[in-house]
Amino acid sequence: MLENTSRTELGSLGEFGLIKHLTQFVKINHESTVKGIGDDAAVIDNKDKQTVVSTDMLVEGVHFDLAYAPLKHLGYKAVIVNLSDIYAMNATPKQITVSLALSNRFSLEAVEELYQGITLACEKYNIDIVGGDTTSAQSGLVISITVIGEANLDDIVYRDGAKDGDLLCVSGDLGGAYVGLQLLEREKKIFVESPAVQPDLGGNDYILERQLKPEARKDIPTLLKMLEVKPTSMIDISDGLSSEVLHLCTESDTGCNVYEDKIPIDPTTYNAAREFNLDPTVCAMSGGEDYELLFTIDQADFPKIKANPDITVIGHMTDKKDGVNLITKGETTHPITAQGWDSLLKKDDGQSN
Ligand code: ADP
Ligand code: MG
Repeated sequence: MLENTSRTELGSLGEFGLIKHLTQFVKINHESTVKGIGDDAAVIDNKDKQTVVSTDMLVEGVHFDLAYAPLKHLGYKAVIVNLSDIYAMNATPKQITVSLALSNRFSLEAVEELYQGITLACEKYNIDIVGGDTTSAQSGLVISITVIGEANLDDIVYRDGAKDGDLLCVSGDLGGAYVGLQLLEREKKIFVESPAVQPDLGGNDYILERQLKPEARKDIPTLLKMLEVKPTSMIDISDGLSSEVLHLCTESDTGCNVYEDKIPIDPTTYNAAREFNLDPTVCAMSGGEDYELLFTIDQADFPKIKANPDITVIGHMTDKKDGVNLITKGETTHPITAQGWDSLLKKDDGQSN
């Protein structure tokens, strides 16, 4: 979806012209960025800090559908999904590189909108764009972003540190991004069948924003530091609560009990899920793309976090032999299985991640 309707062919600028055009307003804010765009490689000096690196790639038709994802939002989201991985290490993202593969279906105006979203996210999260690659593609659009962050050695949190008895916590609320996607898919289908009908998206801003323009939980590592809580393990929720809980348990060699009645679900998400005949808990467990942080803390730290509205305790870690379970509202115990996007894909024909 493109807001600017004029069309300048990418071919008229050439590769270098395009790079120059897109990156003309890129500014450098961090002292650690010694050399940004313009040489064969960027140079970063993290002094005595640990360097934390992660990459995520978004492919048109697999991770996004331009029928309803505005390019500006897409650029924003592409940055966010990367930053989220760095916050999940309890680290601070500082620089990104941006690699684009573009088919000639895209005009300069389209790529500019994409880059505006990228730049906006960088401004909001204080990130320097220090390089990238720009190439042509046979069809479609691929965005690959690499993020570089830093952390003190003692601050880094891995997936493997949870212990039996630790509390399992989550930031924000879950399931919204998936329900937002269902809404967009429904309106797209209606539009394809009868283009004259205006999309009915009213009252659902929250879940649409969760899907189209998510935020990363920059505030959580800062908050935890202020509360003097160091999580024992942490992961971001990109594939759904089930999948991430299983990752923490596998890496930490523990079991876990998650309590259904504790899982935070926004009323908008809850009501929209019901409208789609979906179980809100299933949306939270298997939906994905919420980009909240899931982490474990020592029980002794509970008083420090318990009054915080941004953090919910949803369960506790157990001995590995007790398994990984969801304790339902009816107090029955269900083993949690790895049903991220894959199983939803089969059931609902949604997008994969
Ligand atoms: P090289 O040929 O050495 O790979 P390029 O000509 O691809 O270099 O890129 C020139 C400079 O522009 C490099 O600093 C590179 O990191 C940067 N660059 C290329 N594409 C992008 C992009 N999409 N966003 C930001 N920087 C980019
Ligand atoms: Mg290059």
